[in-house]
Amino acid sequence: MRVDIISIFPEYFAPLDLSLIGKARSTGLLSVDVHDLRTWTSDVHRTVDDTPYGGGPGMVMRPEPWGQALDAVGPGTLVVPSPVGKPFTQADAYELAAVDHLIFACGRYEGIDQRVIDDAAARMPVREISLGDYVLFGGEVAVIVIMEAVTRLLPGVLGNASSLDEESHSAGLLEAPVYTKPASWRDREVPDVLRSGDHGRIARWRRTQSLLRTAARRPDMMASYPPELLDKSDRAA
Ligand code: SAM
Repeated sequence: MRVDIISIFPEYFAPLDLSLIGKARSTGLLSVDVHDLRTWTSDVHRTVDDTPYGGGPGMVMRPEPWGQALDAVGPGTLVVPSPVGKPFTQADAYELAAVDHLIFACGRYEGIDQRVIDDAAARMPVREISLGDYVLFGGEVAVIVIMEAVTRLLPGVLGNASSLDEESHSAGLLEAPVYTKPASWRDREVPDVLRSGDHGRIARWRRTQSLLRTAARRPDMMASYPPELLDKSDRAA
């Protein structure tokens, strides 16, 4: 997968050299180029913002540098992090992981002039994505979040790809609690069943915990879980 990120703060993306994203880059599964939007300015102050038409507080990102930047790195699938975008989900992460070339446009100030998004949409797929119902300073952190969620879905990135099948949000449920050694810690014991070696009982226990957790913490998820996927033991849980 090829990724281009455009931002006025390229330094924000140093973490993309670390851990499994860094490894995916060094093994060639992923290429990431971070671009400074100011490369595409032409004035001595390298200006990227101006006052909003219609008045109001703050500044808006000017269209010219963005237009040139997207012409230079595009076309691809353009992802614009924005609080007015569609809330990001694991399903979106899977869709983005299937794309060959992602371009991320990081807004700052009051956001990017709307014509940039409209103009890009005439040439390439555009997805405005929100991380949640709150407002960040800029799109950089949102891009790192989206990159983490997407990169771990790329074939070959995770050592054990089967972890993807059982984790939270993969099949509409939250994952069961997890434990490791020691078996007893501060008088707290690992549930016996997990030490039983009985794979059938362990699977049943995990499934029950997963259902109970989802029902308690995310009734919205439980309500949209397909009833035909519930068996007799699930209903008893
Ligand atoms: N004036 C905008 C509004 O009220 O919708 C908020 C602009 S915000 C201060 C600056 C930038 O941060 C946005 O252009 C976007 O790139 C990013 N951003 C802020 N909140 C976000 C969120 N919840 N999800 C994704 N990106 C966000």
